[in-house]
Amino acid sequence: MSRIQLLNTRLANQIAAGEVVERPASVIKELLENSLDAGADRIEVDVESGGLSLLRVRDNGVGIAEDDLPLALARHATSKIHELEDLERVATLGFRGEALASIASVSRLALTTNAGDGASGWQARSAGRDMAVELGPAAHPRGTTVEVRDLFFNTPARRKFLRTEKTEFGHIEEVLKRQALSRFDVALQLRHNGRSIHSLNSCTTDMERQRRVALLCGPAFVEQAIPIEAARGGLRLWGWVGLPTFSRSQADLQYFFVNGRVIRDRLVSHAVRQAYQDVLYGGRHPAFVLYLDLDPAGVDVNVHPTKHEVRFRDGRSVHDFLFSSLHRLLAEQRPGAPRAAPTLAGAPLMADAAPEAAPPLQGRMPLARWQSAPPSPSRGQVLEQMNTYGALHPSAPEAGEAQDVPPLGYALAQLKGVYILAENADGLILVDMHAAHERITYERLKQARDAQGVPRQPLLVPRSLAVSQREAELAEREAAFLAELGLEVARAGPETLLVREVPVLLRESDVEQLLRDVLADLLSEGRSTRVQESANAVLSTMACHGAVRANRRLSLAEMNALLRDMEATERSGQCNHGRPTWTRLSLAELDGLFLRGR
Ligand code: ADP
Ligand code: MG
Repeated sequence: MSRIQLLNTRLANQIAAGEVVERPASVIKELLENSLDAGADRIEVDVESGGLSLLRVRDNGVGIAEDDLPLALARHATSKIHELEDLERVATLGFRGEALASIASVSRLALTTNAGDGASGWQARSAGRDMAVELGPAAHPRGTTVEVRDLFFNTPARRKFLRTEKTEFGHIEEVLKRQALSRFDVALQLRHNGRSIHSLNSCTTDMERQRRVALLCGPAFVEQAIPIEAARGGLRLWGWVGLPTFSRSQADLQYFFVNGRVIRDRLVSHAVRQAYQDVLYGGRHPAFVLYLDLDPAGVDVNVHPTKHEVRFRDGRSVHDFLFSSLHRLLAEQRPGAPRAAPTLAGAPLMADAAPEAAPPLQGRMPLARWQSAPPSPSRGQVLEQMNTYGALHPSAPEAGEAQDVPPLGYALAQLKGVYILAENADGLILVDMHAAHERITYERLKQARDAQGVPRQPLLVPRSLAVSQREAELAEREAAFLAELGLEVARAGPETLLVREVPVLLRESDVEQLLRDVLADLLSEGRSTRVQESANAVLSTMACHGAVRANRRLSLAEMNALLRDMEATERSGQCNHGRPTWTRLSLAELDGLFLRGR
């Protein structure tokens, strides 16, 4: 071992750079944050060769006074906090005072700035092992330009990890996109090799903000997203929540900002996943752009050098607030609710290739709580809406006023025993009757369970069922749980079960198959820790048994009853597996198909 020595300044900074400056995009992130902290409302970014040869960020912020300039490039030098208390309520994006020093140690950096009103400013560069700053006069309007050339020229090991120009530029674009989503009030430009990639004006109206989101996340997202705005106990949540049917195969359209800072956080992802868990097709990912604003003192941002993670002081209430706001919003989405309507003409539903068959069950995720569920129906109501759709419900009037037509309209016919065709005020409605009925049955079973347990009905002749010993033991052990779900099951022998009662809603279904599927669910779900989740999974399976099968002929009255039930049922825009239950073709879209000018 050799003697202990102090590292020279450059090397110390290079080591620090290892944490913050991973690739060109990280430089852009730090520079954009500095520009925003400086109060800029116009920022221009120029990139050459994916950022490998040049990165330049120019802003119209407050600039840096000449006297402060040497310190700007020094490590542990910042204008943003002064003491520990400041750190506990940081409102700026930066505060560590090490970005510029780190970047300067692994590139050729020039910072030109002007904190006054004239055109004359100063330029700073650092050079040598001690990173002494060279200062000289330079012309610059009020604001700052930072130019970073030849990133990693003196750290070849780092340089080796860089990918192609295209990939690196992709990362830069993503960084810019996040900042653009976090600050609608700032105009942003991005150029690559002299070509304009994004030119975003500042936004003041909702309309303009929505347009920016459409530019950055695609128009299909905005068309199929529900705006949200919720507040409680000092927390405010707003933004856009993608409809469950606009799900994605990857978690690539998920933006979550805490006080303007884009973050990845387990607590947040968990709350969001949980809110979607009952409506999302298995294995799919929701899309969202969400903003959480709270008192800076309520969140610790000094958790990670890149500041991608945060720690909430009161994680529990943040989680509850996120979950309940999103869960409520998604539950409210039913036909007729504003913006809840999927369209054929819009982006294809689940555009990135949904699998053909639904997985047997969704709900590997932690359980949702139903504390925010609407008042449950009485036993009488549930009994009334028994399995089949019969003449209990009124059918279509002869000719109604347009405004009297319900959102899903009145049934015209049934197609191939699978789809209901209906007419509403706008045009044609198509409903997948099995999917829709399955959701309705599922929601009812859940409500009934939460209210007083699922109403049961004794079988005239109890059904005896041959099962494996393991299944028999399971059924015996879980008898109380099954009873809550409406299944009265007793063990009649080492490998024999006796079904005595079934849910009223499911009395028409194949009892034997139903119980076998339920036991299979219980075996695979292992319900010990996640009672509600597996209960939902079981109810979902049961609902599938109870739902009208394909090729069953429904009368017009039955079809209309189903449509009315859909309108009244939460989450009825998706079946239990997250597939859409209905879609529409407006008259204008139909006219378009026939090249008919109207
Ligand atoms: P931090 O942002 O954590 O303070 P940086 O190393 O990124 O640390 O920047 C150091 C200091 O330089 C900042 O605190 C700020 O005072 C100043 N600075 C950096 N960039 C700009 C800019 N674009 N406009 C005005 N001041 C800037
Ligand atoms: Mg900074």
